[in-house]
Amino acid sequence: TGQSTRKRVSVLGATGSIGENTLDLIARNPGCAEIVALTANTNAARLAELALQHDAEMAVIGDPDQYQTLKDALAGTKIAVAAGEGAVVEAARAPTDWVMAAIVGAAGLRPAFAAAEQGLALALANKECLVSAGEAFLRAVEAGGSTLLPVDSEHSAAQQAMQGHPQDAIERILLTASGGPFREWTLEQLRQARPEQALKHPNWEMGQKITIDSATLMNKGLELIEAYYLFPVEKAQLGVVVHPQSIVHCLVEYCDGSVLAQMGAPDMRTPIAFALAWPERMCAPTERLDLARIGQLTFEAPDATRFPALRLAHEAMEAGGSAPTVLNAANEIAVAAFLNKRIGFMGIPALIARTLDRAAGEIGTAAPETLDEVLATDQQARQLAQDLLPEVMRAEAG
Ligand code: NAD
Ligand code: MG
Repeated sequence: TGQSTRKRVSVLGATGSIGENTLDLIARNPGCAEIVALTANTNAARLAELALQHDAEMAVIGDPDQYQTLKDALAGTKIAVAAGEGAVVEAARAPTDWVMAAIVGAAGLRPAFAAAEQGLALALANKECLVSAGEAFLRAVEAGGSTLLPVDSEHSAAQQAMQGHPQDAIERILLTASGGPFREWTLEQLRQARPEQALKHPNWEMGQKITIDSATLMNKGLELIEAYYLFPVEKAQLGVVVHPQSIVHCLVEYCDGSVLAQMGAPDMRTPIAFALAWPERMCAPTERLDLARIGQLTFEAPDATRFPALRLAHEAMEAGGSAPTVLNAANEIAVAAFLNKRIGFMGIPALIARTLDRAAGEIGTAAPETLDEVLATDQQARQLAQDLLPEVMRAEAG
């Protein structure tokens, strides 16, 4: 159902986990979409395969060094080829009905803004965009006349549990968190946690960066800020509950005491399908829930001592201004430093905390108002985090 309207679709970050899942869903529903632009950063071979499979109009690679590889792979086809950061932004501007913004991190800011300005349905997986650019991004969406469709399981769940209900009756939105691979680890164990251990998520198959964010619980922190910008609630109305089975994705509480939860197997093709078919529904080949087999759904409070990243994100949301931009930038530097084994697992929140402390004086606390101001603040915060990295490394060594 819902395939009567053939949408013109672009996928930014086509070779990533979300991009691949989006294209998988499209491949399984022939006729639901016509592919305009596909973009990737470095994997030209996979990008070319996807472009051929989906008969895309254009394939764009971020890394200019990969241009020749992409060009050769698509020689003799009608698929247009381009490379470079600017070309990715241009691809985001190609006329379409629906764009999946699934580039990871602040690298996705410019393309997401470019798409938002076109007046289309913008499926936003790139949560860092809302965290880093907040109000500026919402203004771009509004000015462009676009519709934001969250592609995060929790926010898709909230959107579904809010459909058809009066917004002023919402009392609370509770995001669920799996707790990640280290949910039961002690602080001492967490200090020794290695990247290959953090990269093993119990429930979800995702890109590296979000998998590390899930292990620190920064992912849930980013999602709190994402929810704040997406939904008509005050900061105090947002909460987090740990739910290790990842079956209930979000709970929306109403003023009459009714709580609406959305459930589903942990498979991103469900929230992607919701966004792709919106306002209709389409079929997704995900595992159906067998609650009798699952047996138990459990819930517990998150532990801010072992997972300080959640508290840091909460504080940045409360502080507002430049704090969420700084938080996101520092987190990206910290995650990369952890993956490169320069800092330990607990060094991630330590570096973010130091960067946030120093940023107030060095960068200022005012909210960046435009995309260029967001990018400038993001750049300054990255530099500051890089400068503070040796301090964290010394603290860990001593
Ligand atoms: P991923 O690492 O698997 O894929 C990232 C994609 O972005 C790739 O196609 C890559 O080529 C592209 N990319 C990376 N850097 C780029 C750059 N500098 N310029 C242009 N393109 C670049 O990541 P993912 O897991 O698919 O996550 C994508 C986004 O979706 C993230 O913001 C993540 O938080 C969000 N998200 C992911 C999931 C999930 O299940 N994977 C769930 C919820 C939200
Ligand atoms: Mg999520």
